[in-house]
Amino acid sequence: MQPSIQHLVREFHVACDLDAPARPAPVSPELAAHRQELLHEEVQELAEAAASGDLEHIAHELADVVYIAYGTAVVHGIDLDAVIREIHRANMSKPGPDGRPARRSDGKVLKGDAYQPPDVAAVLRAQGWAPGGHG
Ligand SMILES: [Mg+2]
Repeated sequence: MQPSIQHLVREFHVACDLDAPARPAPVSPELAAHRQELLHEEVQELAEAAASGDLEHIAHELADVVYIAYGTAVVHGIDLDAVIREIHRANMSKPGPDGRPARRSDGKVLKGDAYQPPDVAAVLRAQGWAPGGHG
């Protein structure tokens, strides 16, 4: 089995001497702002790629956005794979009992009566997060 994306991005951070704490923890305002700038740059590049319609460019910039997002998780000590699994679990509860999702006029899938929201705090606690304690 190939290593997870989380594993790969953490490997990059360790190789480049970037922050990669072992458990969830807050970061400095400077680092938080830096991460936002990096993500913003990649989202802008993705917008340009999307407008161009060039599939290679779109794929590259999509991957850059996701890689940076994972990197931001890494600097916060968050295992994003586990958080994404929890979001997926919640999303899969969106369809109603008939198995059919309700949709907004633009096609977005809406939350049905059976919807179970994600418990991100529980996922972070399982990773060693101590809210109110050491972060
Ligand atoms: Mg890029």
